[in-house]
Amino acid sequence: MAKHIFVTGGVVSSLGKGLNSASIGLLLESRGLRVNLQKFDPYVNVDPGTMSPFEHGEVYVTEDGAETDLDLGHYERFTNAVINRDCNFTTGSIYYSVINKERRGEYLGKTVQIVPHITNEIKECIRKVATPGVDVAISEIGGIVGDIESQPFLEAIRQFGLEVGRQNVLYVHLTLVPYLRAADEIKTKPTQHAVSLLRQAGIQPDVLICRCEKPLSQELKAKIALFTSVEKEAVIDEKDVKPYLYEIPLLLKEQGMDNIIIKRLGLKTDGGNLQGWERMLERLKNPRYSTEIAVVGKYIGHQSAYESIYESIVHGGIANDARVKVRRVEAEDVEDKGPEACLDGVSGILVPGGFGERGIEGKIASARYAREKEVPYFGICLGLQCATIEFARNACGLKKANSTEFDKDTPHPVISLLEEQRGIKEMGGTMRLGAQDCLLLPGTRAHAAYGQNKVSERHRHRYEFNNDYRELFDSHGMVLSGLSPDGKLVETMELRDHPWFVCVQFHPEFKSKPTHPHPLFREFVKATLTVDKGQGVEAGGQRSGVRGQGLGVRGQGPGVRG
Ligand code: GLN
Repeated sequence: MAKHIFVTGGVVSSLGKGLNSASIGLLLESRGLRVNLQKFDPYVNVDPGTMSPFEHGEVYVTEDGAETDLDLGHYERFTNAVINRDCNFTTGSIYYSVINKERRGEYLGKTVQIVPHITNEIKECIRKVATPGVDVAISEIGGIVGDIESQPFLEAIRQFGLEVGRQNVLYVHLTLVPYLRAADEIKTKPTQHAVSLLRQAGIQPDVLICRCEKPLSQELKAKIALFTSVEKEAVIDEKDVKPYLYEIPLLLKEQGMDNIIIKRLGLKTDGGNLQGWERMLERLKNPRYSTEIAVVGKYIGHQSAYESIYESIVHGGIANDARVKVRRVEAEDVEDKGPEACLDGVSGILVPGGFGERGIEGKIASARYAREKEVPYFGICLGLQCATIEFARNACGLKKANSTEFDKDTPHPVISLLEEQRGIKEMGGTMRLGAQDCLLLPGTRAHAAYGQNKVSERHRHRYEFNNDYRELFDSHGMVLSGLSPDGKLVETMELRDHPWFVCVQFHPEFKSKPTHPHPLFREFVKATLTVDKGQGVEAGGQRSGVRGQGLGVRGQGPGVRG
């Protein structure tokens, strides 16, 4: 039987419950255990798929096509857990399921109530991640204790502990221990209050992770332990680790987190280690080269709207021994000030996925700048579609080319609605979603990056390259390098005569890990190190990415001109 860990939060949100859940998962895997992870989000939307990234940050897509919370991205980047649609539930999805059961008459005439019907539904969802072979299932509860909407989840995990036996569950509570500059004091009272709320809900935490600016003295840990009834060794402090999020597991391990969990849950472990992770961190922290990449989007001001993109760029850097500085460029600024003003000096340009018209012309102008100035370009989903519009307008002479998403009456709909999307009216969960195969053309950069004929990548879109323009594009130098297995959908394209200009209709950023950088991000970053833009410099300041020398040189190795 799997053991369960529940991760809750107190005092304030955004303390990093997702990263800590993922880190606990990694630590347990490093001890030879198999883990699974899931997140409960207390909001009423059925999933985040219909929410603006300004509200929610990135929508993370799983292999099986669920649109989920971005914390699932942390789970996949840190661990080997198989993350799917059973790994994210919301208040909305729980109620949706209960109400559907009620309509089908499954409650046999009973009054349907929050306790026990909603809480039973939540417990059923918890059991879904304790699949055969999983030693520890980790469930993160979004929001904080004291929120009205968190209460059914807290009640469910309390009941769950009672049902499976207290020795089989561990409650980890993440809390804030602020430092007050004016008083020059570290304050434990907010944590005392948060834990007292948790105990009012019937949950005695076993472990406290205290987020703090300054490390906690033994005396302060003893004080927190006394007021919260948590053993002192299980009061763990966690300083900010920015910019190296991947250090969190090591911080926890230094304080014995894995041993505490293993002892408390009576787990049997057989070896394992963290060496691969530690080696990755070593490379991340001591890079030899550096480069600068612009990400041109419309949610640039939001910290986590492009979470997986930013992380994948870091991974591409790790693969190339390079620190990648990301210049976050607001697409509307490119429209107002022009691409030169916004993009001058960068060694690569990435246009990520997105929806809607705002900023589109800025993204198109960025693709043009990259094509004409021979700056490496990586277009992802909408980034492919913008490059397509740009190429049609400026290389093929179709001045009014557009996507029907932005101009229904365009005379040249180079991007148009997928056949399967016609007639769909509902917004939630109705895009082309999840893993799909793609066949790559040998001799192309995409093929060279993967080193494979057939790949599988995750999708989230309604629009697609219009096949009527295939020949025109090819004859003007845009190679359609990847197709769906039936040959009907263009999945990747690239410029024949350019240092590195690769576009993909899918989202490679959902499959990149720090220990296994995605091949396309690896090759993109490599290409930025080899352009003569004055950027591919040694981290210490010296130029290194000089054409014809060193790493990933233009004209050598994978990603060469095809
Ligand atoms: N809006 C575009 C579409 O629906 C692109 C989607 C995306 O970038 N994820 O096809």
